[in-house]
Amino acid sequence: MSQPLAINGGTPVRDINTKPWTKWPFYDKTEEEALLRVLHSDNWWYMEGTEGKTFETEFAEMHNAKYAVACVNGSAALEVSLRALGIGCGDEVIVPPYTFIATVAAVLTVGATPIFVDIEGDTLNIDPTKIEEAITPRTKAVIPVHIAGRPADLDGVLEFAHKHHLHVIEDAAQAHYAEWRGTKVGAIGDFGTFSFQASKNLNAGEGGIILTNNEELADRAWSVTHVGRVRSGGKYRHEVLGGNYRMTEFQSALLRTQMQRLPEQTQKRTENAKYLRSRLLAIEGIELPKEDPRITVDAYHLFTMRFNPEAFGGKSKAELVKALHAEGIPCTSGYVPLYKESIFATHSNKQGARCQVGQRPDYPNLNLPVCEQVCKENLWLFQNMLLGNPSDMDDVVTALDKIQRAWR
Ligand SMILES: *Cc1c(COP(=O)(O)O)cnc(C)c1O
Repeated sequence: MSQPLAINGGTPVRDINTKPWTKWPFYDKTEEEALLRVLHSDNWWYMEGTEGKTFETEFAEMHNAKYAVACVNGSAALEVSLRALGIGCGDEVIVPPYTFIATVAAVLTVGATPIFVDIEGDTLNIDPTKIEEAITPRTKAVIPVHIAGRPADLDGVLEFAHKHHLHVIEDAAQAHYAEWRGTKVGAIGDFGTFSFQASKNLNAGEGGIILTNNEELADRAWSVTHVGRVRSGGKYRHEVLGGNYRMTEFQSALLRTQMQRLPEQTQKRTENAKYLRSRLLAIEGIELPKEDPRITVDAYHLFTMRFNPEAFGGKSKAELVKALHAEGIPCTSGYVPLYKESIFATHSNKQGARCQVGQRPDYPNLNLPVCEQVCKENLWLFQNMLLGNPSDMDDVVTALDKIQRAWR
């Protein structure tokens, strides 16, 4: 006999009123002191303070990178990187379709054309073997996104990028502290961009940073971020067209304290994710991302799993998400293929259109089969859930098992 599901009035596996999930964010006196230190310093501005510059150095060091440029958010970090590489009108940039809108919006904003390349079903990241066929004489860069905190196949991406002289911008907005073959992601490509928006694994409400190992690129990114100033130049010397993308001293001070929690939090997420993985093996029809020894640290911004409707009585993903929520397991169904977003059907993208050199892709009629399938079948759990205990993970397994029994 299966138990009545919570969506049908049964008792939920987890009552989130009495047993809430681990709260996010974490802070204590350390954060209070950091914020008050800036407040009382009277220096709230990057240019005159020390917090921003120190944060840049510390974040770069933590991520095995030589240079860092802090900025307002992860979207701006992408835009600044593209501008620093001189990418704009008439250029094409290869992007995956399974990502947050910002990856692609940045490309459109600088006037370039996003070219979607399908993902791998078992990693959710861009499929490097499909990059080559998307390259044209106008292709300037590729943006691998480390979705869910799992590094994309950078060996594969870099191989094709080098062969065709393309720049690589890693969108690491979800991948703080993640590691590819022993090196932190972010400066393995030409640039790597991060976000400190509230949901991300390192949080200041908003914020962003750009990493690189190339000094000249670092200086150019700095200039674009700082209204076109040059690092060594005067306040009213502007050599390139930039904007004001600066982060405040409050954010930097907060991030410096939050950053100290990151290694331990990452460790905790990894332990819980491993435990959850091992227990989910017993649930038929739940498939987990492939393990890859080249991923030496997975940041687990999300815990992703693929469900096979056949093992759940033919129910849809939306029905499963609803049933899990009712059982006290927050989860989301995640992205839709980005090229299906109405911005591509309705938005004339004037800037892009003015710049258009080749044929603009027929976005609404694109069909990248792996991405389409993944969007039908993938579910996410949030990173804060992985900061709990194994018994929290047990609730996820119990709920899936309960739902499966009821639907079979
Ligand atoms: C969050 C996110 C961004 C954008 O970062 P913001 O700080 O919110 O602007 C870009 N790319 C990906 C993959 C993201 O998850």
